[in-house]
Amino acid sequence: MTRLVKYLRDIKETGAIHECEEHGWMQDRADPHARQRAVELACEYPPAGISTDHSVAAILDVLDSIGDTCPECPASERGPED
Ligand SMILES: [Zn+2]
Repeated sequence: MTRLVKYLRDIKETGAIHECEEHGWMQDRADPHARQRAVELACEYPPAGISTDHSVAAILDVLDSIGDTCPECPASERGPED
């Protein structure tokens, strides 16, 4: 499913995922609208050789496997200044 890695960039553009600026970890924004857009993207543009069903399932799998925080960021130490 490495082909789907390319998809992450597209998903990011939907706003469903963002990266930690310091560590690069993918973070789920837990935005239902962004998730919906990511799923629609998977439906409209499934990777070559991958069915729409598999594409959508993979997208959801990716989104579900991503946490909403960066594992390397000490959340408790991050101030609200940004
Ligand atoms: Zn981080």
